[in-house]
Amino acid sequence: MSIPFSRINHIFISHLHGDHFFGLFGLLTSFNLLNRKNDLHIYSFPELSDILQLNNPKMIFGESMGYKIHLHPLNAEKSEVLFENKSTIIHSFPMRHRIPCCGFSFAEKDKPRKLRPAKIVQYDIPTYKRAGIKYGNDLELEDGTIIPNAQLTDDPPPSKKISICSDTLYNKTVIPYILNSDLLFHEATFLHDKLSRARETCHTTALQAAMVAQESGAKKLVIGHFSVRYKDTRELLEEAKTVFAETYAAEDMLTFNF
Ligand SMILES: [Zn+2]
Ligand SMILES: [Zn+2]
Repeated sequence: MSIPFSRINHIFISHLHGDHFFGLFGLLTSFNLLNRKNDLHIYSFPELSDILQLNNPKMIFGESMGYKIHLHPLNAEKSEVLFENKSTIIHSFPMRHRIPCCGFSFAEKDKPRKLRPAKIVQYDIPTYKRAGIKYGNDLELEDGTIIPNAQLTDDPPPSKKISICSDTLYNKTVIPYILNSDLLFHEATFLHDKLSRARETCHTTALQAAMVAQESGAKKLVIGHFSVRYKDTRELLEEAKTVFAETYAAEDMLTFNF
């Protein structure tokens, strides 16, 4: 699914190594050129405020800065809810990297049950009772008969969860936060024969990323953040697939249907 620029209102930056935020300058400038007016929310570490000159955004964006940026600080010590509305909840959780770093999970909340249209007609269910039935209520008819919810509704489509783990050492403490992700992105900077290099630089190997996917019950794993020493993704993918078959290599415009 492609999302129009104008609908991007929340941006999550895991940590302040340049490869993870340099793209912001171009993006924020493009928003301005496109005449953005909506506030933008960025979730990252407080130092980003100085980097982007948020106290005086006109330094970077000129007099025509047309929208406000809100920086929400991340906590690298414990998991936090960053955003929540009726349908979605977004958590951060600590990663183990050379500088403070957080992973993110984006989860749909449980959806209401689906009320069968034929039952609305059959029992002439009034509008004011329908919301309650969608949340599990039974229906009481005027003569006192109870129609159980299971006869009125179908299961809703399953709620989806996407988790992002970048950058980190192999780190089992993230597993409770990313449990049962429909899609897990995990960094896989090196092949496992470079394990000592991975440890030195606080990164993960393709094999370890696959272990995290397997141990956390992910349905699909996307690996990325590959070291430039690898000319293509073939070996990294092969290594991960020895542990977790549903592995894909991240590439531009890669899309999945859930
Ligand atoms: Zn990093
Ligand atoms: Zn990085």
